[in-house]
Amino acid sequence: MLTGAGVSAESGVPVFRGEEGLWRDRRPEDLATPAAFERDPRLVWEWYAWRREVVGRCRPNAAHLSIARWSLAREGRTVVTQNVDGLHLDALLEAGGADVPARARPIELHGSLFRVRCVRCGRRRTSREPIDASSERTLPRCGRCGAPLRPDVVWFGEPLDPEALAAAFGAAAAAEACVVVGTSAVVHPAASVATVAADRGACLIEVGPEPTALTPLADISIRARASEAIPALLES
Ligand code: NAD
Ligand code: ZN
Repeated sequence: MLTGAGVSAESGVPVFRGEEGLWRDRRPEDLATPAAFERDPRLVWEWYAWRREVVGRCRPNAAHLSIARWSLAREGRTVVTQNVDGLHLDALLEAGGADVPARARPIELHGSLFRVRCVRCGRRRTSREPIDASSERTLPRCGRCGAPLRPDVVWFGEPLDPEALAAAFGAAAAAEACVVVGTSAVVHPAASVATVAADRGACLIEVGPEPTALTPLADISIRARASEAIPALLES
């Protein structure tokens, strides 16, 4: 399964580029880059602190919960997401309790707003606590080496995590079916997860209100909102 921003639309997660996604009239391209973080880490953290606060108030919807039950039910079911909102993981915690098996965890291709990573030693951890971005002195630092921590998300111009990519494409190549939900499928390499699955003979099912770049390849297109279509598709 490959998911995108549309699966979180009904949870109220603001779209990155829409009016409500904008922050102080700044474009994401000017904040979500390694150069921006080098230039002004406090400003970048202030933006992420705001996004974490806004997105942190959103709850998983019926589609996230249904996907969580589906991935917990059997081995060999993989969720690959482009979303950084952490809602697939929240849904797993809601559906399955605190001990989420590693195999059921989503592959977050673009990272997560709720993880941080050390710029020097690369150590990652979950991070839900509020970030104090009032001065450079209060920004979070690595518990191991003391270097600055950054949001563990993929920024413009950065490559995707090779391990996450390998896991996603491995699952795609082995899949009998691939459900694509809530993505316009224009951002690569994420969208290629679906085309690789289709090339290897998987049945391609797309769910979403509008035609997408994958529509010509799809065996089945379900033109509906995720919260209605996904429970019907996975749990009927
Ligand atoms: P996109 O905005 O390009 O496409 C969203 C798709 O979802 C569209 O095809 C739209 O028709 C469909 N959609 C809208 N409402 C829906 C609903 N209720 N149910 C099902 N489908 C619905 O999003 P994308 O393809 O994920 O690409 C956006 C990029 O921006 C990604 O790289 C992603 O990392 C990032 N992003 C992430 C989030 C998030 O974490 N929630 C939000 C916005 C953007
Ligand atoms: Zn470190």
